[in-house]
Amino acid sequence: MKSTRIPIALQQAVMRCMREKLALANEKLKVSYPEPEVNYQQRGTSAGTAYLQHWLIRLNPVLLLENQQPFIDEVVPHELAHLLVFRHFGPSVAPHGKEWRWMMESILGVSASRTHQFKVASVQSKTYPYLCQCRDHQLTVRRHNKVMRKEAEYRCCHCKTLLRFKTS
Ligand SMILES: [Zn+2]
Ligand SMILES: [Zn+2]
Repeated sequence: MKSTRIPIALQQAVMRCMREKLALANEKLKVSYPEPEVNYQQRGTSAGTAYLQHWLIRLNPVLLLENQQPFIDEVVPHELAHLLVFRHFGPSVAPHGKEWRWMMESILGVSASRTHQFKVASVQSKTYPYLCQCRDHQLTVRRHNKVMRKEAEYRCCHCKTLLRFKTS
């Protein structure tokens, strides 16, 4: 499966957040956990997944492109906390239990209550609203993703103007 290309600046922002939070954890826990691997192959409606045994975080490229920094600020610490909890407490703790909340709030300094609030809305809907100068349009997820990646442009067949993503 072809993976969505993420602009380098966005990848750097992801790694910056990751390293900052990891450094905080290593300092407070007095450990030196290595940097997790990050890839952008998460599909569907999940924002991300932490692969505990593999020390890997998989992020959703579509949601990252759409939500940018708010996505990073929320999802990177969330998934990193899963890895840290696994390493620190072992495999037999609840995914979002008290150890995870403690890791989020006391160690990473992030609220544990705001978790992936944006994740479902955009990826679950089958179409995206676009505007030209004469009417409303609906683009498929596939076309919308092409527009977001700047791989395609679409025009209204009536007024001939470029369709613009309607961000509400
Ligand atoms: Zn989680
Ligand atoms: Zn039109």
